[in-house]
Amino acid sequence: MKEGIHPNYQKAVVKCACGETFETYSIKPELRVEICSKCHPFYTGSQKNTAVGGRSERFKKKFNIKDED
Ligand SMILES: [Zn+2]
Repeated sequence: MKEGIHPNYQKAVVKCACGETFETYSIKPELRVEICSKCHPFYTGSQKNTAVGGRSERFKKKFNIKDED
């Protein structure tokens, strides 16, 4: 193993524009992002086209089927 190949990763705090913060590992101690899992459209449920589950969701919507436990 040679040294100096891998960046020196450390625990980093990521701060999102929405105010959310979370920890990750990075070569920088602090990161700023404009979008995160909390405010990204994909996670907020406003996505229009998704490859995963899209077909069944449309099917349920068309036939007005609700999930039941
Ligand atoms: Zn965010």
